[in-house]
Amino acid sequence: MKPVTAGIHHITAFATDPQGIVDFYAGALGLRMVKKTINFDAPEVYHLYFGDEKGSPGTIMTFFPHPHSSKGRIGGGQVGITTLSVPPGALGFWEERLARFGVETRRSERLGETFLQFADREGMGLEIVEREEGPLNEWGFAGIPAEQAVKGFGGAVLFSLDSASTRRTLVDTLGLTPDVEADGYARFRGTGELGNVIDVPLANQPSGRGGAGTVHHIAWRAKDFGEHEAWRQAAAAAGFQPTPVVDRQYFNAVYFRENGGILFEIATDPPGFAVDEPADELGGKLMLPSWFEPYRAQIEDGLLPVEVRQLKED
Ligand code: ZN
Repeated sequence: MKPVTAGIHHITAFATDPQGIVDFYAGALGLRMVKKTINFDAPEVYHLYFGDEKGSPGTIMTFFPHPHSSKGRIGGGQVGITTLSVPPGALGFWEERLARFGVETRRSERLGETFLQFADREGMGLEIVEREEGPLNEWGFAGIPAEQAVKGFGGAVLFSLDSASTRRTLVDTLGLTPDVEADGYARFRGTGELGNVIDVPLANQPSGRGGAGTVHHIAWRAKDFGEHEAWRQAAAAAGFQPTPVVDRQYFNAVYFRENGGILFEIATDPPGFAVDEPADELGGKLMLPSWFEPYRAQIEDGLLPVEVRQLKED
C-alpha cells in the first residue's frame, strides 16, 4: 500500500554559531535541547536537536553549526520558511517576548491565518502561527507556560524551483492531501497534529544557495521501519534516486532530492531520542554513536562548549 506521511519529522539547517543557536532556540524560543551530538558525516561539527520536552517527531529543529560555514541565501530548492505552532491566543506573547530579545517581527496574512514572521540570528526564515492541533509543550523553560509555549512545527513553506512538480510529489509520493489554493499558495495537509500543514508558492522561486541561515533538508515521518522500506521503494518507483537506509541513531533515514531542488528525507519515528540517554536527561551530555566513541576525546577537543542558559533581555 502507498505510504502516507503524518507530516514533518524534523528540519535541519546550517549555522555558524553553536552557542548562538542554543541561545535562540532554547533560550528565546523555549524549546528543549533534546540531543547534543555531532554530524555523523562530519564529526568536527555539532548536530544540535531542539524539540518539545519529549523530542517528539514533528517538533524537531536541528542544526549543523560550524564557525567556518559560509552564509547561504534563502531561495528556490529549500524550505523557505519554517513554521512553528503555538496555542490559540499566544501570538501576542511571542511578539512581546521576541521584542524583548531584540528580534524584529512582522505580522503577515496567508490563507486566512496570521503569521508572526522573523529570522533567527543567522538569517533563517521563521514564523509562528496559532493552531488548535497538537499537544501542549510542558517543558516550561524560563517560566514559559504550556499555554503559550511552542508546540512544535506548524509546517513549512517550501520554496521550489519547479512548484508544479514539487506539489505533485507532495501528493503522489508523500501522500499529503491537497487543501486550499489562494493568495498565490497551495496548501497540503498530512495526517499528524504537528508539522502537518505545508504551503507551496504557486510561482517558481529564484534559486537559493546553501549555507548558514538556510535549511539543508526537510524530513518526513515514517511510522515504523517497515513503512520506511516501502517509502524507499515508492520514491524509487516515482523516479527519484533514494539513498540506501542510513542509521542516524535516533531514526533511520533515506534521502532523495525532489524535482523542485529540495532535499527530502524520510525518517522513522522510532527509536527516538531516549535510545541512548534517559528521557529526563536529554541533551545534557555530548552523545556519540558507538562507532565514534573511541574518538571522543579528540572530538570534544574540536568543539566549542555550549550550554542552555537563561538570556538577558534587551
Ligand atoms: Zn535529517
